[in-house]
Amino acid sequence: MKVVVTGGAGFIGANLVRALLAEPGITSVVAVDDLSTGLLENLDGLPVPLLRGTILDPDLLDEAVAGAASVVHLGALGSVPRSVDRPLPSHHANATGTLSVLEAARRHDVGQVIVASSSSVYGANPVLPRQEGLRPVPVSPYAVSKLAAEAYTIAYAACYGMQVLPFRFFNVFGPRQAAHHAYAAVVPRFVSAALAGQPLQVHGDGRQTRDFTYVGSVTDTLVDAVLRRVGVTDVVNLAFGARVSLLELIAELEEIMGRRLDVVHAPARPGDVRDSQANSDRLRELFPTVRPTPLRAGLEQTVAWMSGRVLAGQ
Ligand code: NAD
Repeated sequence: MKVVVTGGAGFIGANLVRALLAEPGITSVVAVDDLSTGLLENLDGLPVPLLRGTILDPDLLDEAVAGAASVVHLGALGSVPRSVDRPLPSHHANATGTLSVLEAARRHDVGQVIVASSSSVYGANPVLPRQEGLRPVPVSPYAVSKLAAEAYTIAYAACYGMQVLPFRFFNVFGPRQAAHHAYAAVVPRFVSAALAGQPLQVHGDGRQTRDFTYVGSVTDTLVDAVLRRVGVTDVVNLAFGARVSLLELIAELEEIMGRRLDVVHAPARPGDVRDSQANSDRLRELFPTVRPTPLRAGLEQTVAWMSGRVLAGQ
């Protein structure tokens, strides 16, 4: 079985590619990535051809998806602040890019298309936990682009009978997540600052909450979805219902690292949501065998991986 991973050189993509290669039933994995935020080294030593270029290029996608049984579409420009700074590139990559991937899948009769949307689509809707039926109230260009991506995906199931699975990822963290760019996510930012002995910068009061999800739990779910050919007619939250504030996250890191960590507060950022926690009933019904990695264990693995990079001078 051939599986295509767009965004395969990115954080979740590179973890997913490894998990797919470990499955005997999956005979070939192909990555598509323009390396705008992903890294070539994430695929070092793997038997995975990288088609380097944008998902907006139909010829590149034709080459990638021909003969594929599944496409896992992760390629996107992530980050709320990035989209607030420059909305158009996020829209092109995330909304038009998803449409382009769906069109390629339609041209080639791909049996299953799995798409990464985001919990940010719930936005300013105050109801917690986030149940998929809640009205989306996106408050950033990124969230709007992801809402468009998942809506196109559902429309392709309705119009063309395509088997699809749009997931709303929450705050995914783990090894290979980039720490050193302007739009880095909070876990790698905190861990890298802590390892460097620098203060952790918290936007706002630190009491904002997130449903942190270890990347292994995400890839376990994606692999299970590919192997069992899971398809749905609506979105599915991919998170397990934790609600952890940034201050609690810092306390966990302090315990793991065995010392107090300095914190500095910066202004809250436009576009950021206050609280986020998934209702995971739909996920647990569809994927009853997936067991989430607890926050502590996931953070320990992340700290270990990032310390290894520091020791290696990377
Ligand atoms: P990432 O930035 O590490 O990976 C995205 C990859 O897509 C990168 O390798 C990048 O180079 C590639 N890419 C970007 N634009 C492209 C284009 N036009 N053509 C081809 N490739 C392109 O981010 P990630 O955290 O691995 O995110 C994977 C997916 O999950 C994204 O769709 C993201 O929006 C979604 N998501 C992630 C999180 C999270 O917490 N990490 C949360 C919600 C949703």
